[in-house]
Amino acid sequence: MINIIGSGLSGLSASITLARKGVACNLFSVQESERAQSVMAEGGINAALDVMGEDDDLLAHYEDTMKGGAYLADPNAVYGLCSEAPKIVNWLKELGVPFEMKNGKMIQRNFGGQKKKRTAYVKSSTGKMLMSALIDEARKYEMKGLIRRFCHHKVLDLIIEEESCKGLVAKDEYTGKSETISGAVILCCGGLTGLFVGRTTGSNDNSGQLVSNLFIQGLKMGNLEMIQYHPTTINIGDKRLLISEAARGEGGRLMTYRNGEPYYFMEELYPIEKNLTTRDVATRAIYKIRNDKDCSGDVYLDLTGIDRKIIEERLSDMREELLDYFGIDLCEEPFKVEPGIHYFMGGVLVDEKHATNISNLYAAGECACQYHGANRLGGNSLLGAIYGGRVAAENIEDPDLSDHKETNFNSDECSPLFNEKLASILCEGLGIIRNKQTMEKALNDLEQLKKEDLNKAEENKIILAMAMLESALNRKESRGGHYREDHPESDENYRKTSVASYDNKIVIGLKDIPERRAQ
Ligand SMILES: Cc1cc2nc3c(=O)[nH]c(=O)nc-3n(C[C@H](O)[C@H](O)[C@H](O)COP(=O)(O)OP(=O)(O)OC[C@H]3O[C@@H](n4cnc5c(N)ncnc54)[C@H](O)[C@@H]3O)c2cc1C
Repeated sequence: MINIIGSGLSGLSASITLARKGVACNLFSVQESERAQSVMAEGGINAALDVMGEDDDLLAHYEDTMKGGAYLADPNAVYGLCSEAPKIVNWLKELGVPFEMKNGKMIQRNFGGQKKKRTAYVKSSTGKMLMSALIDEARKYEMKGLIRRFCHHKVLDLIIEEESCKGLVAKDEYTGKSETISGAVILCCGGLTGLFVGRTTGSNDNSGQLVSNLFIQGLKMGNLEMIQYHPTTINIGDKRLLISEAARGEGGRLMTYRNGEPYYFMEELYPIEKNLTTRDVATRAIYKIRNDKDCSGDVYLDLTGIDRKIIEERLSDMREELLDYFGIDLCEEPFKVEPGIHYFMGGVLVDEKHATNISNLYAAGECACQYHGANRLGGNSLLGAIYGGRVAAENIEDPDLSDHKETNFNSDECSPLFNEKLASILCEGLGIIRNKQTMEKALNDLEQLKKEDLNKAEENKIILAMAMLESALNRKESRGGHYREDHPESDENYRKTSVASYDNKIVIGLKDIPERRAQ
């Protein structure tokens, strides 16, 4: 039996792929699929379908993805992703996803960092619709006993013996009982949101705890310094509300006031891409303009120039959300936005087949470091989650692993106070603009935090957090989401994957990017 941890898009995709091969799997998740972060996705999924009369094709998608990721992604993996994208979107359509259509033809929208209209979407609820379709598809196989769901089961730890994964320990959150289950594992447990609680657009269920525990047991991590700040978010309670790139894709403009007059700075700074640069570029532009003494200090998103019909057809959910939560009508007035943490390009290091350095352990979706290099293009992660889940499921084997010993596992959890302290230190060190001093100070602050009375989970999370900072310190250049004011240029010597490992101490190395194979 294969165990899949996480029932968002990547976990569902992996489980459906296994079930189609007739291989049974257990699907564990903290909450039901309907509440996984994947349902939050708004703007869309990329595929070069070439339905907009712009001569789009696989190579254009490939090149935009590689360039967007500052050439840090594995080119063979990206090529595989882009070439399967049209088939994946057509499959989703067959499953009933009501993609936006006009005159019987699918339509696609602009997204940042892409030269063509390549993002298929369902209003601003793409994630919800994709998830509904995959949940429904998975149900067919649940009926046949090929997918066994364990909702409200938190996986506490994996059983790892001699660099081989033998199974997992899961806790039923309703009964409080823990159970050991043998078998190979695919990690689909989402990004490292839980290290930045309160500062991200993502789900706090993705606590990063399991991955922190596994890092201590020898699981290698890649590009941990690559964190994506989304240029347009709004603070709401204990998280950040995303204002999807779709708003700019449909004509929204970023502005500030300069000497009292509206100033559409992106259009002056980037006359070609204008408001649709990649996210790292837009975020830094906002950061700088907020600190410009001639400007008002606030940045707004202006959608008032967009035709109301387009808003109704394509951004109605966003309009409703802003009206409900803040009483703002985006048709009538520009509204304030700020950059916020949105995506983790780094994560569990995997090869092209999604295998980790531990045998019988694979990883896919946002928890894995694959496809996005130094900066993810909007619309590519839904695609990466579905494709990556599929690749992992196609390649994982199902050996009998029941010969493991009884194991000691870590069942501790981090306290909210600890999580808050950790997030605050990490955000100081791994902000939009970084330098040696701020990163070293964050490392020192973590050393101090380590001296407090901590449990094992908290100690493990600190070690992973330190590995993030050490990866960032080790990369003495600026690339994609990692911008250092003390090393503002990219350096070809660092066009390599950062690899973090742990063997009683954190070790950071650099790994060559594979050459692209002839296709
Ligand atoms: C607001 C928002 C909007 C977005 N919009 C877009 C978009 O328009 N286009 C795009 O391409 N991308 C978008 N993204 C990114 C994209 O949604 C995610 O990267 C993707 O959905 C991640 O899928 P996943 O399967 O890796 O993880 P998730 O959907 O996050 O699922 C993780 C799963 O792991 C489970 N889990 C975690 N820890 C444990 C544990 N210890 N034990 C058991 N289960 C566990 C959770 O319960 C959950 O089921 C957006 C993200 C956000 C936050």
